[in-house]
Amino acid sequence: MNIYLDNAATTKTDSRVVDAMIPYMTEHFGNPSSVHSYGKKAKVILEESREAVASFLNCKPKEIFFTSCGTESNNTAIKGIALKYLGSKKNHIITSPVEHPAVLETVIFLKDKFGFEVTLIKPDRFGRISPEEIINAVKDETFLISIMHSNNELGTISDIKSISEIASAKNIHLHCDTVQSIGKTKIDLKELNLSAASVSAHKIYGPKGIGVLYKSENVELDKFMHGGGQERDLRGGTENIPYIAGIKKVFELLVSEGEEDVVNYDELKTYFIREMKNLLGEKIHFNSPSENSLPNIINIRFDNSLGFDEETLIIKYDLKGIAVSGGSACHSGALKPSKVLMTLGFSEKEALSSVRVSFGRFSLKSDVDYFIGKTKEIIYT
Ligand code: PLP
Repeated sequence: MNIYLDNAATTKTDSRVVDAMIPYMTEHFGNPSSVHSYGKKAKVILEESREAVASFLNCKPKEIFFTSCGTESNNTAIKGIALKYLGSKKNHIITSPVEHPAVLETVIFLKDKFGFEVTLIKPDRFGRISPEEIINAVKDETFLISIMHSNNELGTISDIKSISEIASAKNIHLHCDTVQSIGKTKIDLKELNLSAASVSAHKIYGPKGIGVLYKSENVELDKFMHGGGQERDLRGGTENIPYIAGIKKVFELLVSEGEEDVVNYDELKTYFIREMKNLLGEKIHFNSPSENSLPNIINIRFDNSLGFDEETLIIKYDLKGIAVSGGSACHSGALKPSKVLMTLGFSEKEALSSVRVSFGRFSLKSDVDYFIGKTKEIIYT
């Protein structure tokens, strides 16, 4: 038996998305920059997909750019905005230590290589960034704030709307990594009033290797990928038309089934929490907050008094046919304690005793039952 409960790392591509992609690898293989009918066919799906994404996120199609992944979107937004300010008096960036490495490493690169000043906001114990801390960190020199909408390890949602109000009152750009939030909680880009936002298709039943960058029409970015002027000259390179056709389907499915997905996540998470409490009582801890948290992610910690070997916990689940994560998906394979949990003050032992369970569109109640049964074996034998 194989149970997949690591949907925050990646999701299975929906077969309907695969079906939507295939014609663009076979008969409709044209290059959207070509003027002939093959090119026109590719151009049509490129723009239809852009419209589908823009409509779901409530922005203009011309504010949507296709990239190769969420990481590229984060890099393009942050480096692109920063380079516009290079050499000016505005040289201060605010972010947090619990951002995905695609944000954190990018900001640290800008600090080390170009001398930008960086402030890392201290999050609360759930990884939440408070708007008050942002106010305290803002200086005259601040030109960019980058804070994730929800945390990939804990599911914690930060109050981006309030942070956005602070940023716009001070004329500071706000970039938001919305990779984990799309399809799990409402993201309305008009309401959030961001300069830029990052999206990744493989977290929402699309293929790996395709992402979206939202860039407000009022924001100018220095381009990151020079080339043939594609994506309105923001990102050179022939567009990945088959995957872009897939993204259109991804967002159509979020429109038709997204609410149902969320009900499923909610029910599974509630059931999971109840069953874990029934199994372990006081000896199970929930690292994720009970409120303002994504419906599909729950990070749990086994009490060390249970006497299990925390260093092999994730491997033991794997040996029982259960895929869960002990940290960021990008580090999976390496059994190191989660940097995010360590940053939040957990000891190494506590971090290693923590497991992220994340539900997806195809998760079932029987998956939870299987997890609970195997947890009993892992913890007590
Ligand atoms: N941002 C967050 C919050 C993520 O969880 C991830 C993926 O784990 C990324 C960015 C990177 O996305 P991608 O894998 O498409 O590069």
